[in-house]
Amino acid sequence: MPRVALIAHDDEKPEIIDLVTDHESLLASFDLVATGTTGQRIAEETGLEIERKKSGPVGGDTQIGAEVVEDRLDGIVFLRDPLTAQPHEPDITALLRICDVHDVPMATTRTSAEYLLDGLAAELEETV
Ligand code: PGA
Repeated sequence: MPRVALIAHDDEKPEIIDLVTDHESLLASFDLVATGTTGQRIAEETGLEIERKKSGPVGGDTQIGAEVVEDRLDGIVFLRDPLTAQPHEPDITALLRICDVHDVPMATTRTSAEYLLDGLAAELEETV
């Protein structure tokens, strides 16, 4: 089963909830992990089971980066707020870099996230 990480900055949390709600039945067949607050919102507002790491600013992005290094993740949806500087910018940059190193797809917008989820769904179909 594909393992996907979900992360959204505060401004983008409504968008990720909307995305997840739209794809809830597909995501129910995925193994999900998220940063702390994003995961809490998703758990509260959908019926999905989701593993929660620490909140982004205290290391959640770094924990997800570690999973990339360990080859545990098939993709990341990271809806970033492009207009507001984040206190943990170095961790975010590190996560982007490590995804590039390991060729783990990361979607940073709603449309690219839809493509990423569709792609993983198609792969899942091929294996069943
Ligand atoms: P959060 O972290 O889900 O705990 O808000 C997201 C982030 O800012 O990386």
